[in-house]
Amino acid sequence: MCGVIGIYGNKEVATELWLGLISLQHRGQDTAGIITYKDRRFHLRKGKGTVQSFFTSKDWNILKGKIGIGHVRYPTIGGGDPEDAQPFYTNSPFGIAIAHNGNVINYQELKELLVRERRRHINTSNDVEVILNLLASELGRARQSSLLQNGVNTIFEAVKRVMEMVNGSYSCVCFIAGQGLLAFRDPHGIKPLKFGWKGKNFCFASESVALDTLGYREMRDVEPGEAVFIDLNREVSSKVIKKLAPRHCIFEYIYFARPDSIIDGVWVYEARFRLGEELARRVKARGIKPDVVMPVPDTARTTALSLAQALGVPYREGLIKNRYIGRTFIMPRDSRKIVQHKLNPVRCEIEGKRVLLVDDSIVRGSTSRAIISLVRKAGARAIYFASSSAPLKHPCFYGIDMQTRQEFMARNKRVNEIQNEIGADELVYQSIEGMLRAIKPSSPQSGISGRQSSSYCTACFNGDYPTRINPEEIARIEKERIEL
Ligand code: SF4
Repeated sequence: MCGVIGIYGNKEVATELWLGLISLQHRGQDTAGIITYKDRRFHLRKGKGTVQSFFTSKDWNILKGKIGIGHVRYPTIGGGDPEDAQPFYTNSPFGIAIAHNGNVINYQELKELLVRERRRHINTSNDVEVILNLLASELGRARQSSLLQNGVNTIFEAVKRVMEMVNGSYSCVCFIAGQGLLAFRDPHGIKPLKFGWKGKNFCFASESVALDTLGYREMRDVEPGEAVFIDLNREVSSKVIKKLAPRHCIFEYIYFARPDSIIDGVWVYEARFRLGEELARRVKARGIKPDVVMPVPDTARTTALSLAQALGVPYREGLIKNRYIGRTFIMPRDSRKIVQHKLNPVRCEIEGKRVLLVDDSIVRGSTSRAIISLVRKAGARAIYFASSSAPLKHPCFYGIDMQTRQEFMARNKRVNEIQNEIGADELVYQSIEGMLRAIKPSSPQSGISGRQSSSYCTACFNGDYPTRINPEEIARIEKERIEL
């Protein structure tokens, strides 16, 4: 999971990129980076840490230019070493800088092709370097005269070749020296990418929240398989290059994205609200009667609110989060101790009550177990646990840190076994159908056109992957994850 941003503004863009990245910080806290372009040179600062901890005021003297790209990263391919931080750039055949969100499944095969047949050098284990070198190689094959006379078509042709070769998810933002700002999204549109403009200033970002906070009121999604190019005269060209059935990541709505973002026609907040209504039906059907509904902060808050409303039960904040500790799910392994430091129970709301806890998901189960134990020690009479999402059973190969089958508690266990293992008195999961009903186009008043519920990737719940998954690649990725 990563966040990207690219801006072509009418003044220095470094601080706008920085502010945009802070809005996207929830998408990755491992590394941060910004690259800008001025005086025929790239200016780059990237490394370990959050946006606020990594950059200093001195960086604004380095990061000069009206065009730039930014990135926040949580590692997928590669172990999160400083040299794996994005953006990346190459000087050959001419300057290209890139940042992406996603994961290249056939990384190894493409790396070998680039090294063996295209005489490209791959320096890191970051999959974006493969996309960068494929793009550079394809642009290098086009004659220089063709690029000068017919820039955008030549660039779109190169992107088409990249799309034909890369298997996986990728929402990319690039700058091509002497040409302009380019963004493209994989043919299924698995990871989000938004395009915004104010007059002749342009911005691409992973989520609409970054555009909102920077004042880009006009916006649209980059379509699946679409490339958008802004040349140095600020003329916009776009083309759907290779479109397949949309398969947007459903987990963006449940967990990753900020609730104030709108992704592919669906408000994340509304989706989470409806997830609560769906859960309420399942809680009622099980005859569960809590005294109080409490979210596990922060992602499940909206879902818990609507669930409480639908049950006619008070909603209470019974777990207070230390906001200076990062999101458990995207922190390094063994989260048990982190949970203890991160969440503190409000005893006066818990003592003697039947508490219905709501969380977005159960992955390995260790976090849920630690939270239930915390609430039980705070004096709860009974603890019911509801998951906003269906049981997670299958690895994600599209950029999320859950890539080995062994990681999933629900893979080989029944619901009552999971219930016992996490220590809940009752456990209620959302159904896949409930998720699809909840994550539907936004209300007509929002003025946003939506999509069919069948347009989502639900692979981590049902194993229905949007792209070809080669068993050897699965084994390699799983081995890599285990060794990390
Ligand atoms: S497998 Fe799950 S997390 Fe990965 S892209 Fe699909 S829905 Fe999202």
